[in-house]
Amino acid sequence: MEYITRKSMLYKTEAEHSDYTMNHVLGCSHGCKFPCYAFLMKKRFGQVKTYEDWCTPKIVSNTLELLDKEIPRLKDKIHSVHLCFTTDPFMYKVDEVIAMSLASIKKLNAAGISCRILTKGLLPAELAHMSKENECGITLISLNEDYRAQMEPNTSPYLARIAALKFLHEVGCKTWVCMEPYPTPNLVKQDLRTILDKISFVDKIIFGKMNYNKEITAYKGHKEFYNDCAAQVKEFCAEHGMDCYIKIGTET
Ligand code: SF4
Repeated sequence: MEYITRKSMLYKTEAEHSDYTMNHVLGCSHGCKFPCYAFLMKKRFGQVKTYEDWCTPKIVSNTLELLDKEIPRLKDKIHSVHLCFTTDPFMYKVDEVIAMSLASIKKLNAAGISCRILTKGLLPAELAHMSKENECGITLISLNEDYRAQMEPNTSPYLARIAALKFLHEVGCKTWVCMEPYPTPNLVKQDLRTILDKISFVDKIIFGKMNYNKEITAYKGHKEFYNDCAAQVKEFCAEHGMDCYIKIGTET
């Protein structure tokens, strides 16, 4: 494992669902090829040189010290902290990242701050013993393992990812699924309803189209496709009493 240090950890964000975020790792072993927006940005600003460099995560070794300094100053301002926008807090089989993420969530919860967690790895069972105000989420865009191998090569297998989420739901945690970037049929042929049925237990679904990929615009009828998908997701959520959010730009 490689390490870096940083000067600050908690950042204000304009994101729709969390007012603060933290990114305690540079890079992400999952190596998504949609492409990954975080990788494109880090490459553009010279923090990462190559795809291989991106896939070799570097932990911010002073994460916990920074949180100890920043939490007392910010705790009355923060509603919730999102982990993470530019990396994955529970990188599949990367134990040091997982341990640092759990320790960070524990510290935030101890100060009365809830966390909004999103991963393509496996949500650890330890989250069951942390604040029930945390929102535990996975990204899920397919059930096709060949597609996963092609597009999110080092992430956790889909069914294992869902099982870890379901366990947390069963012990009373809030759960959610981010279905973004959802692929068009020229990338993978699949039935949206079959995927939705696997996650019918969650509290919330966020659905969004794929961006920054020329295969999408090459697919004739992509606008109608995403309009139909969004309608299906909304109907499914209404049927199951779940919250639903369609990302801006998905419906036209
Ligand atoms: S899991 Fe997220 S941060 Fe990691 S490579 Fe994939 S899209 Fe990028």
